[in-house]
Amino acid sequence: MNSAPAQEFLRRAAERAADLTHRQMLRAGMDHYQANFAKGRGRFADWEAARQRCHEIKWEGVNHLDKYLLEFEARVKERGGRVFWAENSEEARNYVVNLAASRGVRRVVKSKSMVTEEIHLSPALEKAGMEVFETDLGEFIVQLRNEPPYHIVMPAMHLTHAQIAKLFHEKLSDVAGDDPVSLVAAARQALRRAFFSAEMGISGANFLVADSGLVAITTNEGNGRLCVSLPRIQVAVTGIEKVIPRLRDLAVLWPTLATAGTGQAITTYNTLVGGPRRPGEPDGPEEFHVILLDNGRSELLADAEQRDVLYCIRCGACLNTCPVFRAIGGHSYGTTYPGPIGSVLAPHLRGPEFAHLSYASSLCGACTDICPVKVDLHHHLLHNRRNAVNAGRGRFGERLGFKLWRWAMAGARRFELVGGVVRATLRALYALGLEGTALDPARAWTRNHAAPAIPRASFRKLWREKNGAR
Ligand code: SF4
Repeated sequence: MNSAPAQEFLRRAAERAADLTHRQMLRAGMDHYQANFAKGRGRFADWEAARQRCHEIKWEGVNHLDKYLLEFEARVKERGGRVFWAENSEEARNYVVNLAASRGVRRVVKSKSMVTEEIHLSPALEKAGMEVFETDLGEFIVQLRNEPPYHIVMPAMHLTHAQIAKLFHEKLSDVAGDDPVSLVAAARQALRRAFFSAEMGISGANFLVADSGLVAITTNEGNGRLCVSLPRIQVAVTGIEKVIPRLRDLAVLWPTLATAGTGQAITTYNTLVGGPRRPGEPDGPEEFHVILLDNGRSELLADAEQRDVLYCIRCGACLNTCPVFRAIGGHSYGTTYPGPIGSVLAPHLRGPEFAHLSYASSLCGACTDICPVKVDLHHHLLHNRRNAVNAGRGRFGERLGFKLWRWAMAGARRFELVGGVVRATLRALYALGLEGTALDPARAWTRNHAAPAIPRASFRKLWREKNGAR
């Protein structure tokens, strides 16, 4: 795995893992999440039953995607909305940019949406001359810093209070003080001006409800609700996998998502939108568009082994529990979706040169255990590794190592022989003080840790010496 993205990932990951301040920040944030999640999970009469039900709902939606997407489309059109099927990022971007240009849009407000990050929508709108405002506070902060979100749910969790205060003083007017209340008030001021002057509001979708043709959006700040109700044109950009069969499915999906995402019993604002303002209604948008994005999802759907990746409801729990994410943070991955789910998705959404991310895992299975829709994440990381090796993308040294391992494991004498050679080599290298250097085959470990003591003989020999038996 020597692609440019792989080299860049290794460089960033090494830098971040060695940054103790960053790791302390991450650990504090994640520990806080774990405590909230444990409390939230305890509110369920049976958390495992809720997970199983969510899994079944998503199974039904994804395995009957053709039926439910068409049902969703028909319901939206009945209410005067429009639905656009985008094969890829470019088609989705072009639709929104052309729509905005044709309607004379100058200002756009956006609710938090990872799909719009995936298709790089904001830069395209800005290039076309429009002003774009991220309205989720975390997204607003990272937009001011001109950087991508750090985490699926907590985009600015890598920043300290002091960093945000400095940023706001530099970029915003009306910042009364450095305390959190004053900082939030300054952001609110700026965003209210944007909300009241924007002609277009863009949201993602947490779920698309087939039987009612509604887009379900869940936020904690109310910004999503303002985005979909104040501007005269409303656009929801979403992946095709977000469809669920019935409105009543939200009764379990919404609280389970809230608990897995932040430990809350329910997210503060849960909004359903399904069309433009109708005659007699006092408010709501004049136009309502839904963009259903494929962008590689159909290929995942066709793959029976990995189809359940499409069940993901983007709660971020697998990131929070992953020991690799907890060491290197979100920006190291270099992809829209970081952590275990991002590592599984990256080769499918970004191409085979992102197969290296499947190795950014200890395969401990914590991600699979926590996932509220039971995506079999760590096995998919293994599937991706297998696919990469089958496609000839494995490293030469790795292939050689496994060939040697296979040969050695086929006989006790061979195993003893190889073990003896490895022990002797490592002892000699470490005696010469070469641990952690390019010559050390264990340098991935020894460049940051003390070398383990090398035993003088194999386990079998030591056993025989001690017990006098084979
Ligand atoms: S894979 Fe599961 S745990 Fe990870 S973000 Fe998706 S739903 Fe959450």
